[in-house]
Amino acid sequence: MANASSGPGVPVGSSQDIFALGLGLEEPWTLLDQHLETSKQPHELHLRVGTRRGAQFPCPTCGRSCKAHDFKEMTWRHLNFFQHHCYLTAPVPRVNCPEHGVKRIQVPWAREGSSFTLLFEQAALALVREMPVKAAARQMAITDKRLWRVVLFYVHRALARMDLSAVRAVAFDETAAKRGHRYITVFIDLGRKHEPVLFATPGKGKDCVRRFRRFLEAHGGDGAAIAEVVCDMSGAFQNAVEETFENASQTVDWFHVVQLFTDAVESVRRSEAKQTRMPKGARWATVKAGDGALKDRDRKALAELERLGLATGEAYKIKEKLRWVRKAATPQAARWRLTRFLNHADEMTARSDALEPVRKAIATVRQQLDRIIQRWHSTYSNARLEGLNSIFQAARHRARGYSSPATFIAMIYLLAAPIGDITNST
Ligand SMILES: [Zn+2]
Repeated sequence: MANASSGPGVPVGSSQDIFALGLGLEEPWTLLDQHLETSKQPHELHLRVGTRRGAQFPCPTCGRSCKAHDFKEMTWRHLNFFQHHCYLTAPVPRVNCPEHGVKRIQVPWAREGSSFTLLFEQAALALVREMPVKAAARQMAITDKRLWRVVLFYVHRALARMDLSAVRAVAFDETAAKRGHRYITVFIDLGRKHEPVLFATPGKGKDCVRRFRRFLEAHGGDGAAIAEVVCDMSGAFQNAVEETFENASQTVDWFHVVQLFTDAVESVRRSEAKQTRMPKGARWATVKAGDGALKDRDRKALAELERLGLATGEAYKIKEKLRWVRKAATPQAARWRLTRFLNHADEMTARSDALEPVRKAIATVRQQLDRIIQRWHSTYSNARLEGLNSIFQAARHRARGYSSPATFIAMIYLLAAPIGDITNST
């Protein structure tokens, strides 16, 4: 077999067209040479791209056709050619524009500053949508650090184009990339069923709400046009919303009310378990909703709690009454039911100090009554914040192994923000 002139290897194929087509090469660029490097494992296919002598190139600023001033040889990693890693090399000119001076041109197959071709980056991003970044990097045979750089570039470019002029109602919640890690706060558009995420930012508290308003207005939105904000019962958040969105009503999501009482039941159970032998399975039985999802052993545990007259059983019964409140058809009915619920819960908890955590939950709900009732006025579906949890979970999975908020945030955007095809450059 004939040996190629440059080092060990063999020339591959004679049709230049296959590669030229695959690269999307256009005038004045053409494929000059291809060469399979067999001394490396896996083998490397090197494609050499160039132009004819005297070719002219567009100025990167004004597009005027200019003469080349000088060249710099650059190399990009390209899509694998079967099992071979593939590299593309080309002398990239600087043009001498009469108006803009000497400037490096943009090659059509790669973006500025990247050492991958556009097709390679597209393939990498397609993998990142389907699997953790670590696994995608392994599959593409690049370091995860380089892959993250690609992901962050495309996500941020796509975000910059996001148009938030139609946003009128938002909800937000906080989460951590990992248990105990730094928090991020995520804002969603209540008017969007799919890809609802608008903004994610490190931290939790007042500053996040203010940052969201700035982001909203930097993307064509109007803070004064926000008519409803759904959030949890934290006083800091609620004050920030009041200060930041002057025309917004505040709604507490029902999910947070249920959460509050579920936590109270668990707190009662934990203290009681220190003094009393609890029925087997009491913990799981009491955190579940009592309308159908219960297994026989859960029912047994609950019956046993009741028979023994334990405070945990009482707390559970109070929590389960929330379902009746939830089913109210109108705001008036909801207010009536919630008031009855609170009064009844007062009576039930008055007798026992073990139920102190439930008393606290009752006090919080009383204090938040109007914001809770507000959900019956809202025209938006209420389960959105719960849906957010599955988005968080997916993002956590994709960003597994990295604890920086930036990587977690990028994944949340990639999976759940309305940013369209992020490889699209217009
Ligand atoms: Zn120019």
